[in-house]
Amino acid sequence: MEISFYGAAEGVTGSQHLVKVNGKQILLDCGLYQGQRDESFMRNRTLPYDASKVDVMVLSHAHIDHSGNLPNLVASGYHGPIYATSATRDLCNIMLRDSARIMREDTEYLNSERRKSGQPLLTPTYSMADTMQALSLFHSLEYQTAFEIAPGVRLTFYDAGHILGSAVVLLEVDEENRHTRLLYSGDLGRNGMLLLRDPVIVPNIDYLILESTYGARKHPPIEQAEAQLGEIVRETIKRRGKVIIPSFSVGRTQELVYALHRLNVAGRIPKVPIYVDSPMAFSATEVFRLHPESFDKDTYDFMTKHQDPFSFDNLHYVRRAKESAKLTRDQKAKVVISASGMAEFGRILQHLARNIGDKRNTVLFVGYQAEDTLGTRIKAGDRMVPILGSNYRVRAQVCVIDAFSAHADQTDLVNYVRGANGHLRQIFLVHGELEGIRGLKTALGEAGFEQVTIPKLGETVRLVAEQS
Ligand SMILES: [Zn+2]
Repeated sequence: MEISFYGAAEGVTGSQHLVKVNGKQILLDCGLYQGQRDESFMRNRTLPYDASKVDVMVLSHAHIDHSGNLPNLVASGYHGPIYATSATRDLCNIMLRDSARIMREDTEYLNSERRKSGQPLLTPTYSMADTMQALSLFHSLEYQTAFEIAPGVRLTFYDAGHILGSAVVLLEVDEENRHTRLLYSGDLGRNGMLLLRDPVIVPNIDYLILESTYGARKHPPIEQAEAQLGEIVRETIKRRGKVIIPSFSVGRTQELVYALHRLNVAGRIPKVPIYVDSPMAFSATEVFRLHPESFDKDTYDFMTKHQDPFSFDNLHYVRRAKESAKLTRDQKAKVVISASGMAEFGRILQHLARNIGDKRNTVLFVGYQAEDTLGTRIKAGDRMVPILGSNYRVRAQVCVIDAFSAHADQTDLVNYVRGANGHLRQIFLVHGELEGIRGLKTALGEAGFEQVTIPKLGETVRLVAEQS
């Protein structure tokens, strides 16, 4: 058996790892690389392997940096099954179609530049038709149900506790007379996250491919998130201000809505109107409603009493652009959750432009902000920021809640490795910037795990398991 690391090696995006075993090729994830526009276009367009020779595709979860290049895989000749949980399939149904739309708009932008300099025009990496074709190849498998995906290879999904439908991927491989357990973490969540069950630790692993996003960090306790949110809403409403929250439409927005619902029924926040201004968040919430099988016990208990975690009296979903424009103009005290999560594009920009100059308001960050984004500039305390082509003075309060993170931190990751151990022969650290990967390698070394490899992009490693 061998593994080639074709993405998210010494980086966080574009996850794709190709396993060759028993004469078959199994692809783990097929994510989009997300970086500078030109570089991203080229890297995503050309797959580093022959898609027509891949036999089986296994998808850990729906985030675009894990699933977003599936339509290109299919357009490049892949026609086998795509195994995922049913919640992942349903989220991909909206997220991949949205990705095809963004792909088309990005290509139009690049072409407008190319036209000026007389360069040949580009076509989008994939089309909506490719996306529909990819969606037709999905086969859903529920958690903890082993299924033979290739001769001598059994796949089992376990809860990863990261986003709805997310899975840790176990491959049990019988090769000649050897039995090997290979575990791919996908993205690993945290214990105690709202809505989702905790990540399942899978024991007795031989080889582990482990994410290391926060391998060098320790998160504040998750229990703080809801209390902090309540306090920020209370304080802002007392000033008759608005709480403006840039939020990812899938996952974080539903967590926020559920947290606000819980605060509401507990009487810990005033009953002001709460708006979710994002058509994508509306669609994603529909998918959440369809998959209560993915929820934890707290959420079940809440549902028994209050039915739907994602709707309550003073909560409004805004879908149409006209209603969104009206909401932007309304100056009453309220909470507005809108996308994009890093304030790079979308309706959140209108809300920020209107409200960032008023000291009664609060801009609240609840998610990761990449470098060079508007979100990072506001979060860093810049007093003047460009929004939609004009400069705005920041007078609103700027607050940050880090405790909502959906990724395991260093302590969680080391504990996960301890639990997966039995006869761990090698750990491959992927999906992290160098700081995270190196921090995790050091922490694992201190915990007694020396067999840690940091694969380079495109590197192939041959696994030689002990005979059992
Ligand atoms: Zn993810």
